[in-house]
Amino acid sequence: MKIEVDKGSGFCFGVVEAIRRAEERLENDQKLYCLGDIVHNNSEVERLRKKGLTTISHEQFFTMSNTTVLLRAHGEPPEIYKYAQANNIELIDATCPVVLKLQKRILKSYENGAKDNSQVIIYGKKGHAEVNGLVGQTNGDAIVVEGIDDLAQLDYTRPIVLYSQTTKGLDGLHHLTEELKNKTSKVAIKIHDTICRQVANRIPGIKKFAVRFDLVLFVSGKKSSNGKMLFDICSSVNPNTKFISELNEIDPVWLKNIDSVGICGATSTPKQLLEEVAEFLLGMEENTKV
Ligand code: SF4
Repeated sequence: MKIEVDKGSGFCFGVVEAIRRAEERLENDQKLYCLGDIVHNNSEVERLRKKGLTTISHEQFFTMSNTTVLLRAHGEPPEIYKYAQANNIELIDATCPVVLKLQKRILKSYENGAKDNSQVIIYGKKGHAEVNGLVGQTNGDAIVVEGIDDLAQLDYTRPIVLYSQTTKGLDGLHHLTEELKNKTSKVAIKIHDTICRQVANRIPGIKKFAVRFDLVLFVSGKKSSNGKMLFDICSSVNPNTKFISELNEIDPVWLKNIDSVGICGATSTPKQLLEEVAEFLLGMEENTKV
């Protein structure tokens, strides 16, 4: 059986940098808190937990003081920074520069809205950590739309300024933009394509990769937005694509009458885990020979 790991998969630079910052601090300190899982991947969270990185929830954060907390690549709303300052919490801010720039642009548009009465719209997943950080720039006023059904919530008497969560798909954004333009021609609509190319640029490569195999194992944490999006892309070109988060989710039945397996993943999936999946498959193959 031919087994191949996608060379284009693995962490994006935002995640690599957040992990580097955590490990750098843990070289000198035994313990460090991280606000939310540092990456949507259990094996990586567990590897860092063993080094002293403890994940805390937002509820826990707001009870803490006199400590150090790492902010992951997704970014956080302003109240996190305000609380940290008031409670002597040192922040190691590993917000991805791409997200940071987006937060600043949204803040500026929100401030402009006071002058031109425009509304800020974010195309993204409601409740997602990055989206919460973006909505936080607007005092909670930005409207989050997940798809065309949510467009009904918009006020079509006011100008519209739309941004996208960094990990959304380009097709989804284009579709939404078309629908939005069909709904009104009376107000100004500004669309800002703020999809991160670390994700979007993987799409052509992952399509070419997925189509070459009898079976594709797509490895990702279940909470990863770009994981869900890239999995859908793989499935669209190769219906025999399976989503797994852990090795023990691989069903041996999938491998029956299969000559080739491709292994790929999200921007939050460590390359190491993809290699482990490949080794695991090789081991399964050896065992069936015996
Ligand atoms: S996907 Fe892009 S925006 Fe998100 S953390 Fe990675 S590099 Fe940053």
